[in-house]
Amino acid sequence: MTVDRTESAHWFERAQTVTPGGVNSPVRAYGSVGGVPPFLASGSGAVVTDVDGNEYVDLVCGWGPLLLGHAHPQVVEAVREQAAKGLSFGAPSTVEVELAEEIVSRIAPVEQARLVSTGTEATMTALRLARGVTGRDRIIKFAGCYHGHSDGLLAAAGSGLATLALPGSAGVPADVTAQTIVVPYNDLEAVRAAFEAHPGEIAAVITEASPANMGVVPPAPGFNRALADEVRRHGALLVCDEVLTGFRTGPAGWWGEEQAGRGSGGVASAGWQADLYTFGKVIGGGMPVAALGGSREIMSHLAPQGSVYQAGTLSGNPVACAAGLETLRLADAGVYAAVDRAADEVVSLVSGALQAEGVAHAVQRVGNLFGFAFGDGAALGWTGESGGPADESQVKRQEAYRYAPFFHAMLDGGVSLAPSVFEAWFCSAAHDDAALERIAAAVPAAARAAAA
Ligand code: PLP
Repeated sequence: MTVDRTESAHWFERAQTVTPGGVNSPVRAYGSVGGVPPFLASGSGAVVTDVDGNEYVDLVCGWGPLLLGHAHPQVVEAVREQAAKGLSFGAPSTVEVELAEEIVSRIAPVEQARLVSTGTEATMTALRLARGVTGRDRIIKFAGCYHGHSDGLLAAAGSGLATLALPGSAGVPADVTAQTIVVPYNDLEAVRAAFEAHPGEIAAVITEASPANMGVVPPAPGFNRALADEVRRHGALLVCDEVLTGFRTGPAGWWGEEQAGRGSGGVASAGWQADLYTFGKVIGGGMPVAALGGSREIMSHLAPQGSVYQAGTLSGNPVACAAGLETLRLADAGVYAAVDRAADEVVSLVSGALQAEGVAHAVQRVGNLFGFAFGDGAALGWTGESGGPADESQVKRQEAYRYAPFFHAMLDGGVSLAPSVFEAWFCSAAHDDAALERIAAAVPAAARAAAA
């Protein structure tokens, strides 16, 4: 099949003239899969349309925010209504309060939330707050976990950095990352060793509630709970980054799924809480809203009440908050059931087709988030619960070269995937039977391409 992307190619050329690499976020450039990214003109439900008029069933969903699909009519209406009243005030507005109330009502340990505009700001502020509260400087992060692009967190981060195989980033002072201790994911012993090597110095451990930026890597049964115990024992704070998983994997994020006994260890994974949580993506419904939250006591250390500074001209922007609020209000049990069902179906279609073509792979899954790691887990030494990779070093030991042909066959078959094997796949409640049929039609050729 030849798909005409002449207009996209034209726009990509124009973009490269005025924007570094032609994109405003690195992975959009198709660096690891090659080719020209389709320039998108519109989206509706599960489908996006590019400037050449090609349609794709979208399994990127704006990199996570679009739980309800593209341009959900009620979300669009909420935005339209709010926009007509004013785009930005730089003064308190009621919709900010309502969005914070919605977050607080769903995540029990979060008594207060501060709204910001990006996940990067949320995690950066959470760590500043943890340092301010504890009076300590060092933090621990896990290799392959991505928490945005603030300086101290660009150490062994996943996502675009994994895709581009960059160890970190130029321009980050060594003094800054020297405060960041990086340990392998799912490795509690390494966390213990770090605490022992730096007694009284570690302010916080930051972890993705369930990592999804090195592909999906589920926490081992009970890992988050044991981690929370360990962190508390050393007087540090646990920052649970739910920017990606929050309000997507379930109504109370991945933390909520584990408390409900739906983590990989069942009830053994329940019974823990973090000191600070970060959110983004779904809470903006496709608009720039993110948040950090925790107990009233910890949050009281933020300015203007406390001495830890944080601010933002566009923080709690009313139009963005209106999109997030409407999205969360619509995200009921029926929505999560629809997303889960779509995820089940896509996993079974893709895994079945890969199996039929003899392509060894592991399905990596936490709730409705999933991905596929290519290769024979036994031969590659994968130690995850379901036979897949358990940490970043294992993720990197995979037949990643199979992804580019798979990806392009899917794209030519009318299905848009993230342009990197190191990213999660995202479904929405709009991925109905018609969308799933279109995916089913594209998958066999993609599996054949991956096998070649
Ligand atoms: N934390 C996690 C877990 C993320 O997945 C991301 C983005 O993908 C971020 C933080 C950063 O969010 P943003 O891209 O909004 O700055």
